[in-house]
Amino acid sequence: MKLWADFHTHTIYSHGTGTIRQNVEIAFKKGLSAIGISEHGPANIGIGTNPDDFERMREEVENVKSNFTEIRILLGCEANVISLDGDLDIPDKILARLDYIMAGLHPMVWTRNLRDGYHLMVENMLQWRIKSFRAKVLDQNTIALTKAVKNHKIAIVTHPGLHLPVDTAALAKTAAECGTALEINAGHGYMTQEFVKIAKKYGVKFAIGSDAHRPSDVGNFRRGLEIAEKAGLNENDIINAVRIPEISRTQGDYSTYVP
Ligand SMILES: [Zn+2]
Ligand SMILES: [Zn+2]
Repeated sequence: MKLWADFHTHTIYSHGTGTIRQNVEIAFKKGLSAIGISEHGPANIGIGTNPDDFERMREEVENVKSNFTEIRILLGCEANVISLDGDLDIPDKILARLDYIMAGLHPMVWTRNLRDGYHLMVENMLQWRIKSFRAKVLDQNTIALTKAVKNHKIAIVTHPGLHLPVDTAALAKTAAECGTALEINAGHGYMTQEFVKIAKKYGVKFAIGSDAHRPSDVGNFRRGLEIAEKAGLNENDIINAVRIPEISRTQGDYSTYVP
């Protein structure tokens, strides 16, 4: 299976080590047709992107585009879900100027308020030690993510279930209804094969992302491809996979999959 785009890459604007230009250079060298720059939202404690930087990133992306005309360069994000109501940590005004939105749950974020912080941070930490918390936490995480998917135009949910457990079936059902893909994150190896199989039953699409935090990892999909193949996915299940019978037509036609 061959992939044409890496939608999940980080740069020095958060805690990546490379610049936008360096990520694009590697993506181009590896033969990708598109690359997305997807920085963390501002709520990630210590590593979040300054909201003002999205405007700078946009300028930089436009500059780099003039040197790389054969690869499509997209500006996206990896927003944080920061409340049980599915709020995201990037203002709508900024989201509207991005080429696509990815969002996910992370363990160390500034939540909307203390109550959300208790449910999404504290209880998630406690559930690893106190078994009786697990069902409640699973439910809360799932509500937060599915509301985010319903209320925003999210192209991809990043690494569902990593660090913060979710009900894969419920998330996959909502994601399929909303046209949102679930990520198989090659960097973290999540979702696992077992969860991909559960999600596939609901007809949801998947995206394989490198989650590169250094330029050399851009386009490194190996672990994600292994999971996808073992779970029985084919090109039609994965939004950034090249459809073999339609190669000539779809290779440049990725706009269908990027909102
Ligand atoms: Zn992430
Ligand atoms: Zn990431």
